This record gives sequence, structure tokens and C-alpha cells, in this order.
Amino acid sequence: MYAEIIVDIAAEAVDRVFTYAIPDGMELVPGMRVTVPFGRMKKDGFVIRLKKEADYDPQKIKPILTAPDTYPVLLPQLMDLANEIREKYHCPLCEAIRLMLPAEMRGNRVKVKTEEYVRLAIPLDQVDEAIAKETRSKKRKLILTLLSDGEMHSLEEMRAMVKDVRPILLQMKEKEMVSFVVMEKLRSPYLGKVDENQDRQLTAEQEEVLSEMIPWLSRGHKPFLLHGVTGSGKTEVYIRLVREAVKKGKGAIILVPEIVLTPQMINWFKSRFGENMAVLHSRLSAGERFDEWRRIRFGNARIVIGARSAIFAPVENLGVIIVDEEHEQSYQSQSFPQYDARDIAISRCHREGAVCVLASATPSIYSYAMARRGDYTLLEMPHRILNRPLPSVQMVDMRQELRLGNKSMFSKALKEKLDTCIATGQQAMLFINRRGYASSVNCRKCGETIRCQRCDVSMTYHSIDKTLRCHYCGEIHPLPKACPSCASPYIKPMGTGTQKVEEELKKMYPGVGIIRMDMDTTTGKNAHFELVNQFRAGKAQILLGTQMIAKGLDFPQVTLVGAVMADMSLNFPDYRAAERTFQLLVQVAGRAGRGEKPGEVVIQTYQPDHYALEAAVRQDYRAFFAQEFERRKKSLYPPFTMMVRFLCDARDMDDAIETAEKIRNEITLRFGNTPLWRRILYLRADEAPISKIQDRCRSQVLMKLLNHPDTDQLIAAMQEMAKEEYAAHVVLEINPASLA
Ligand code: ADP
Ligand code: ZN
Ligand code: ZN
Repeated sequence: MYAEIIVDIAAEAVDRVFTYAIPDGMELVPGMRVTVPFGRMKKDGFVIRLKKEADYDPQKIKPILTAPDTYPVLLPQLMDLANEIREKYHCPLCEAIRLMLPAEMRGNRVKVKTEEYVRLAIPLDQVDEAIAKETRSKKRKLILTLLSDGEMHSLEEMRAMVKDVRPILLQMKEKEMVSFVVMEKLRSPYLGKVDENQDRQLTAEQEEVLSEMIPWLSRGHKPFLLHGVTGSGKTEVYIRLVREAVKKGKGAIILVPEIVLTPQMINWFKSRFGENMAVLHSRLSAGERFDEWRRIRFGNARIVIGARSAIFAPVENLGVIIVDEEHEQSYQSQSFPQYDARDIAISRCHREGAVCVLASATPSIYSYAMARRGDYTLLEMPHRILNRPLPSVQMVDMRQELRLGNKSMFSKALKEKLDTCIATGQQAMLFINRRGYASSVNCRKCGETIRCQRCDVSMTYHSIDKTLRCHYCGEIHPLPKACPSCASPYIKPMGTGTQKVEEELKKMYPGVGIIRMDMDTTTGKNAHFELVNQFRAGKAQILLGTQMIAKGLDFPQVTLVGAVMADMSLNFPDYRAAERTFQLLVQVAGRAGRGEKPGEVVIQTYQPDHYALEAAVRQDYRAFFAQEFERRKKSLYPPFTMMVRFLCDARDMDDAIETAEKIRNEITLRFGNTPLWRRILYLRADEAPISKIQDRCRSQVLMKLLNHPDTDQLIAAMQEMAKEEYAAHVVLEINPASLA
């Protein structure tokens, strides 16, 4: 017998199957992992197909060395998915396969933990007799008594009862009185205890959307877009839908953005589904992740809740995939292959006959457009739970504040509301989209901004340790005493970050508990969880933070939310800046008034007339969509076109630019006289917006391509071009999450 094997080497040249001989006695099925000789190396590989005949000289075919597992690590449907990813994202098959397996499995980096158990080897009905006969050793008598329940007992448990138990057990094993069993021990990643979370009486809106979705669990593939305002009770809908799937013997995957995957969220599910649920996220240790993956693979956990990569969880007989906060950028992978978990969700559901629910209070323009076109069924939950009102939102024009002589970062309105909130013992959340103290440090004499020497970005001042930090490469410098370019001592931190807001708040409200949550305060494994829990328990009155606090969190005591600088993200050079700002502000506002008391929101901005802000104040998704959709249509941005770019990076900018220009010329040369040329609406070679990151100079060939069936040919040809040798390192990006 022979097996066709994909060898785990991520290179074009070996992106095909190789034939190996199956040694006698080795039992293989497709999807199993093997080790094979490859050249002079030993490599992991995956069995694709078994075959009786070799298609070339059997003498030349090498045998498989080992098969480390007893089960196929790749389900057939995931194998198909891997093939689809290879086609769609133009990557070698083994790279697509790697997405499907816990990284720890490759190269056997994590060992399976085992535990020894003991059980009776003599028949149960003879045990009383054996105990009675056991007069010489009290310990043996005790052991037999312990085991007389017929169950397996762990060695650890036995040790606690009987001193020096092991040698005695070994003697008893010799006499065939007991036997040893080695079992895998699964590490458990759950933090703390699980809250009791009872089922609630569903609201009419929740009933309504569920009644649309549930029948499809038996009918098969169906994509939905669930547009439910913040606080409309979407989580309860997910739980009920998943439960229905489980009742039908099916599994479920719930995708959640990493930062929303709080203990609160996990507890909600855990308290309903218990051991039948597995959690996959980046804060798990390698061992925990491996074990969770195996619990899923072996069918011990049929429900998976996790971040982006959980979309590849080996759930069999899939009933439903839910993508919570579907508008989140983090669903798009930043490393290659740059897959989009939403696309994978749709295609997995299609392939496996499952229901797909994309859900958000602020759907992405793309998904909402798909729903309007009828590709997804739109379901709406326009009201908050128990008819709680959406928070009332007030916009403050900070230019006006300045004219009135208020130079503080807090407007009069926000300050007054904060005062009241603090005085009446309630909780407030303040949002500012930048960590650190100041956004930049500038020289007041020559105007120079201090930039990172390794990246083309300004450095951020951190007051805690008086350092300048680069948020791109992590470089840290002490704050210089003089301007690096003109030596003047008049250098000054400008702009605002979370640390500065915190400092200001401490001055304004001495003695009031304040929690700051940003990347700097959440580096520890559980720091994020702990801060959230402290705030929930009322240990602080103000929670201040970056977008980390903007989403998903449900704090019923919060009555006031402030967006200190709402337009910070509006001025990013990205066609999605308006969409992202709108989403962020609606989400931030949505944190207010989730309990019994109504919520208030203050949005501070320098651009109060911007349509994204106006719509956010009214929390009017449809109005925003209508305007943004028109704008994209007029300026030919996605979803009307595709943004495609070659990103080139090199030590020298000359190499990077030369490469970009070469690629642009090649494109013109190759397609200029073909009908495909009409699909290219825009083509430009240039420095990338951030021209250097970590000492690598960056250039780009930016293109806008028309959506058209034959555009695929164009992209396929470009994928080939990206693989050629250049002076710079080149990757091709299709609608990348970031155009920086
Ligand atoms: P969303 O995800 O839509 O923003 P959540 O799922 O966080 O909203 O729900 C908001 C709040 O409403 C939560 O505190 C939740 O426990 C509560 N809730 C959900 N469904 C019900 C219900 N049927 N009755 C009462 N409270 C509910
Ligand atoms: Zn200067
Ligand atoms: Zn840097």
C-alpha cells in the first residue's frame, strides 16, 4: 500500500503530493499525520489519499517512518477547506493545513500529559473474598477495599490514602490483582468559578429572530446577518440557537473578537453548556490550547467559543457558526495567508450544511450590502432589552470649547456629567483611542517631531517611566533633554493619551477609584480579566481605556460614557476611516445605560459636522450606511471595487521603490493591451503610507480593481508575479485590513 502525502514544508516547489510506502502493520487513513524522510531530513506530513499501486518505480519509493497519532488530525471537510484556502489565497496547501492544527502539534512541541490509574484485575464478585483473605498486609486490604467499587482510581488519589502505595501496587500487579491504566490528562484553562447564569424569559424580538433561524438547523446551509442594537440581548439569542443545535446532535462555533472574549462571555456559555464547551484564544498556554483542541477533535466538547482561528476548530456535524461583532477588523488575519474568518465561516457553513449568523450592532458595510442584495437574510433587533432606551448622546464641539477659553481635555458638559456621576456613586467609562501619555513629542523651536529611528512614525511619550516608545516596533528611549535636531531644550509632549487622561482625572477626583485599561496595563496573562472584574465589582468608579473597553463589555452600573477625542480615527488615511469611527463610537456609546438606569454619552470632537459622527450621535446605522454606501460607489471603493496591493519591503528605500516600479511596469506591459486592462481602475507605485517599520523600508503598488468575473485571472497572474525574485521582499494583499 502507498500513501499520497503533503509534506509540511511551506514552499511552492514542494506544494504537491509525494508518494510513500506504508510499512507493514502501520494503519493509516486520510487526514493522519506521519513523519517521512524528505531528502536528508525528517519532516511531518499529512496523508491525503491511500492507493494500491505506485505510479512509478516502487524501488524508489521511501517508506513512511512513523504515524504519531492514532486518529486523523484533519477531518475530511477541513481538508477540503484547506484546498479551498490554497486556491483562494494562493498559498501552499501545507500552509492552509497549518491553520487547522494547533501550532503546538507541529514538531511535537507539546507533550500529552498523562495520569496513571489503577483498577481491579480480579472479577468484582471475588473481591470480598480477596479482602477477607488479605490478613498479612493492612495496606493491601485497604487498596482492595478502595478498588472494590469497580471504578478506576488515580494513583494520586491512592497515594493520598496509602503511604508508599506504588511498590505495593506493583506487587499486586505481579499477582494479577490490579492493573494500571495510563490516561491522557487534559489541562483545563478556565479561570475562576462559573457564575450561575439562568435562562431568561425571551423577549418578543429574541423569539422572533430565533424562530427565523432555528428551522434552518434541520434544513441546512443558510447565512443570516443579525443587526441588533447594543444591549438588544444578542448573546442570549446565540445561546438558545446553540442549544437547539446541540439538541439535534450538532456542534457549534462562536467566534468573538479576542478582546471581547472576557471571563464574563466565557462564563455565560460555560454555565449553560459546561464541559461540552471548549475555549480557544491566545491567552491559553500552549498545552491548554492543545488539550482544548483535542477535546473538540474527540467530540468531548461540541461547542467552541474562540477568537479568529477557532473558525478551523475540528467540530464534526456542524450545526451553526456565529460570528459576534462581525464588523471587527480582527477577523481578518494579518499574516499569510490573509484569510478572513467571515468568508471562511460562510464557506464552512455552505460546505457542511450549517446555519451561519453574522451579528453586530454596526455591521460592516460589506455584510450589510450583501444582506440588502439578498445574499444574507437580514434579521433585526432594533430595541434594547426590556425596552430600555438607547443612551442619549450629546456631541460637543471642542473648537467652541477652546473659543470659550476651556483648554482642558474635558468639555464643560462632560465635566459636569462626570461630577454628577461621581457624586451620586455611579460608574463612568471614558474612551480615548491612544495609549501612553502624549501622542507625540515636538520641538517648539524648530517644529520637529521625535520619530522612531527604525519606523516612520512619531514616538509616544509614556509618563509612567518618562520614556518615548514606538508603538510599531516597541523601541524605548528615555525622553531626551533637548531637541535631537536643533538642540533646543523646548521640547514638549503634545496631544493626549490614556495616561494623561488618567493623570488629569486623579487631579480632578482625588480619592476616586480609577482603572486604566490599555495595552500597557494588560500585559499579564489575566490582567485584562482582573481589571474587568474589579470594575464590575465596583472597586472603581471610572474605567478609562482604549478600544479595549469599547466593545462587548456589559457593566449595568455604567450610566455615563465619554469619548474624549472621538475623531482621532477619522483622519487615518484609509477609505474605511469613517466606517471604523462610526462603529467605534456606537459601540462605545452602547456601554452606557445597560442596567436599570438610563445612560448618557458625551462625544467630544473637532469635526462635529462629519456624517459619521452625526449618524453615531443618533445611533442611526441605516443613515450611516446609506451615506457611506453612496460615497464608496461614487469614489469606487470596496465593496464596489477591490483594493489590491503589492507591499514591498527592503533594507534600502531604493530597492523597495525600484521593486514597486518594476512591478507596476510589468503590469502595464502585460495587461496594457489586453481586455483585462479595463479592470484596473487605479495603479500607482509609491512609498507606503508608513514608509519604514522596524528598519524595513516599505513601498507599494496600490491598485483598485473592478469586481468582475475575469478579475480573478488578473489576481492569479499577480500572485505569480509576487512570487518572483526582486530586490525587495514582496507580498500581494487583497483588500487588506490595513493600508498603512
Ligand atoms: P448585546 O450583545 O446585544 O449588546 P447582551 O447580549 O450583552 O446585548 O445583553 C444585554 C443585557 O441584557 C445583558 O445583561 C443580558 O444579560 C440581558 N438580557 C438578555 N436577554 C434578556 C432577557 N430576555 N431578559 C432580561 N435580560 C436579558
Ligand atoms: Zn528643534
Ligand atoms: Zn519603531
